[in-house]
Amino acid sequence: MQKLKRLIRTNLINIPGWRTRRRIVVIESDDWGAIRQSSPDVLKKMKQWGVDLRHDHYIRNDALASESDLEALFNTLKTVQDSNGRPAAITANTIMANPDFEKMEQEGKHRYIYEPFTETLKRYPRHKKSFSLWKEGMKNGLFRPQFHGREHLQVNRWLKGLSLKKSVISRAFNHHVYGISLGTTREISKSYMAAWEWDNSSDRDYSFDAIEDGLRMFEETFGYRSLTAIAPNYTWNAEIEQLMFRNGVKGLQGGVVQRAPRANGSGNTNIRHYTGQRNKLGQIYTVRNCRFEPSENPDKDWVSSCLKEINTAFRWRKPAIIESHRVNFIGYINPENSDRNLKMFGELLEKIVKTWPDVEFVTSDRLCEIIAGE
Ligand SMILES: [Zn+2]
Repeated sequence: MQKLKRLIRTNLINIPGWRTRRRIVVIESDDWGAIRQSSPDVLKKMKQWGVDLRHDHYIRNDALASESDLEALFNTLKTVQDSNGRPAAITANTIMANPDFEKMEQEGKHRYIYEPFTETLKRYPRHKKSFSLWKEGMKNGLFRPQFHGREHLQVNRWLKGLSLKKSVISRAFNHHVYGISLGTTREISKSYMAAWEWDNSSDRDYSFDAIEDGLRMFEETFGYRSLTAIAPNYTWNAEIEQLMFRNGVKGLQGGVVQRAPRANGSGNTNIRHYTGQRNKLGQIYTVRNCRFEPSENPDKDWVSSCLKEINTAFRWRKPAIIESHRVNFIGYINPENSDRNLKMFGELLEKIVKTWPDVEFVTSDRLCEIIAGE
């Protein structure tokens, strides 16, 4: 029964919207640039504090990518070639900033201060050359940053959490971690990660400033504007779309369901989307219809499930848009994590080019242009 339901669901999400005879594969990977776990030692400490990490594969494995993490990922992407002679490419949805913990500490943690992620990388032991590797990956068509937010943090909620002295939040702060998930401690009742979710009108104003500033940082850092964006925790609304439109964003990556915060702070409304759908401004929605998230569940055969989803997408003449978060490719906290997943990822890529010799690896911004007929 479960299987049948899943089968119907994967078919249903592919029915409406834009169609193509081209076999396009997009790999969308979120969270690049954001701190999650800061070191293997801090992970050990968190267990001692009683944080429930069983269901949170992010805090157990995810972190800024080290030099060797990036090298291993790029080497895997390079093992295949599509019908245009191009390697596989990752759309690296990037968080542009992290808290500047040291400066905040000096000021008594009352005010949020941030630094560009390129500065955060310099504080890490195996990351000094990470950003030059990003640039190399970009130049070689392996790694294409798009905008995921200035920070992956609901700043006002976090500041409130920090005011409680002996909390997990405060202790995590002391170890330069902010990304404590819902469900891991009773201290958190609303997500700290949903940066653009609002409790009141000042959150609304704050997110507007952060998005505009973040898009400016993006252009300054990478030398081009982000044509698409993906909201933290799939949470954004029409006002945010408008603001991003004014700042050059023409495509909205997402899942089937968007969580749209209401202007008065009274929660979210769910809105469903399909690939190729447009809003009033002409911005194009694209919807992820395949998943490769092996970190989430090591017991599942992700290669065959993902291949099935790609097959379904192609049968409906849809691009296959694969969701695969950064966490899958990080070994800095737990080397087994990336070793295992990269092996499977390589196998997936190999089977894709073998099964569909006419496949094209495309990044999210390019897909948006293709849909727009450019
Ligand atoms: Zn994210």
